[in-house]
Amino acid sequence: MLEVKDLHVCVEEDPSEKILKGVNLTINKGEIHAIMGPNGSGKSTLSKVVAGHEAYEVTQGDILFEGESILELDPEERAHLGVFLAFQYPVEVPGVTNKTLLRQAYNTIAQEQGREELDPLQFEDYAKEKLELIDMKPEFLERSINAGFSGGEKKRNEIFQMAVLNPKLSFLDETDSGLDIDALKTVANGINQIADEDKAICMVTHYQRILDYITPDHVHVMIDGKIAKSGDKELAVKLEEQGYDWLIDTAAASV
Ligand code: ADP
Ligand code: MG
Ligand code: MG
Repeated sequence: MLEVKDLHVCVEEDPSEKILKGVNLTINKGEIHAIMGPNGSGKSTLSKVVAGHEAYEVTQGDILFEGESILELDPEERAHLGVFLAFQYPVEVPGVTNKTLLRQAYNTIAQEQGREELDPLQFEDYAKEKLELIDMKPEFLERSINAGFSGGEKKRNEIFQMAVLNPKLSFLDETDSGLDIDALKTVANGINQIADEDKAICMVTHYQRILDYITPDHVHVMIDGKIAKSGDKELAVKLEEQGYDWLIDTAAASV
């Protein structure tokens, strides 16, 4: 589904600031991947670059989605193909409800993919089913964008967006941050229900915590803009016990 090949990325406005230095990653449908690593290693940048964020420039390598390069596509076009990176609404928009915005996003993608669009009532029924996956009340649909969303609600809203938009490939960046243990279990349970054989999910996380509830098929450790090691879920356990230092030393020694 996704093939990242020798990806080099710098910051658009400062080409000397190299962030990704040759990332290779293959994600097949039906798989759950975890990308772990120390702060500042480039995890979020990788997800943003796959989603098409304009702050970054690809200087070398390629990103293929279902066999085609998506480098020239803008973020909307990538979303229409089925690539999802949870979006944080940038500002509070009084009067625009979560429901309105999500229905627009849903219908745009449905139109693009030749599926039926939903009218407000149909969408409401559809969205309410999805809310149950993450144990949220229907009132959440009527909330103004960002108005007083707590950290935990923002994270739940990301999973809700994913449930509604039903993307082929999802990047979930630090989904566990700001969640207490009960909310974490609920969110993880929602993700597990959304995951299926046709989708791929990539969890981006500094901590192993959420992986107690979501079992990844593959775990990758990013160090200084490269994937320094890949393995299975045992690798995440080892990182929890031993931290990242042993890999940082290995990565430095191989330079
Ligand atoms: P992680 O998610 O692993 O913590 P990031 O991908 O957020 O790491 O950041 C990797 C490095 O790239 C950091 O040093 C960060 O400061 C830098 N960086 C990321 N985005 C930008 C940007 N838009 N402008 C300048 N530097 C950036
Ligand atoms: Mg960071
Ligand atoms: Mg990050």
